[in-house]
Amino acid sequence: MTLKKTLTIAGSDTSAGAGMQADLKTFQELNTYGMVALTSIVTMDNKTWSHDVTPLSFKVFEKQLETAIFIGPDAIKTGMLGTQEIIKRAGEAFEQSKAKYFVVDPVMVCKGENEVLNPGNTDAMIDHLLPKATIVTPNLFEAGQLSGLGTLKSIEEMKKAAEVIYDKGAKHVVIKGGKALDQEYSYDLYYDGDRFYQLKTDMFQQSYNHGAGCTFAAATTAYLANGKSPKEAVIAAKAFVASAIKNGWKMNEFVGPVDHGAYNRVEHIEVAVEEI
Ligand code: ADP
Repeated sequence: MTLKKTLTIAGSDTSAGAGMQADLKTFQELNTYGMVALTSIVTMDNKTWSHDVTPLSFKVFEKQLETAIFIGPDAIKTGMLGTQEIIKRAGEAFEQSKAKYFVVDPVMVCKGENEVLNPGNTDAMIDHLLPKATIVTPNLFEAGQLSGLGTLKSIEEMKKAAEVIYDKGAKHVVIKGGKALDQEYSYDLYYDGDRFYQLKTDMFQQSYNHGAGCTFAAATTAYLANGKSPKEAVIAAKAFVASAIKNGWKMNEFVGPVDHGAYNRVEHIEVAVEEI
């Protein structure tokens, strides 16, 4: 059997819980052939864990895309892109490729960092990525930015934001309530332009969840590549990331990554799906 090819256009997280490392591990766990076009390299200070982002030259980025497009990915995911030029090029790369699926994880800040949001990047995502996205996977903050509705605090506000983001061209929208919405359960909202679904799991430990967002979007990408419908793919991805979060572990005093292999190795978690 030929493996489906999944390409991530993302940054490298040297601590390896998030970024392209999370994507590749997840792609592998879900039986796809994972590939990378790297945008930047994130390293951490050993005393403070403050993040340092080293961008690669646009020329090197471009060369990777040319090779990756030539190989021919079936599905493409975006992660940390960093500049408007890269955001625009990532959208073009999807068009040039023969990929059927484009999963846009609209990463705006490095988790745990107060990196100032670049509003130009948000506009570039709206112009160049959303109209091409099979699925876009913002967290509450990112959905607030993409929709222009600001801080989202309830499922009703998430529904409004999902409609606005859908109207900007994304064919399917998942807004991740994550740990910000509720204490007991973790809610995500899925919208296909017609119906809203609430996806719910128990809330697990919140200390060692580095890489949860990347893992969720990468799992969505792999499930789409392997033939699930968008709705099936996000439900399966939520189950996959829930296992990863429940089994997250302490790496050092600063960070604890999710366990990307927990779904296959440790346990499956139930996702309750309800039309709302
Ligand atoms: P991001 O890293 O982009 O902020 P999140 O960590 O909010 O993304 O979410 C990734 C996925 O993990 C979503 O499906 C979210 O609901 C889920 N999730 C996040 N934190 C928890 C938790 N503590 N328990 C269960 N699920 C969680």
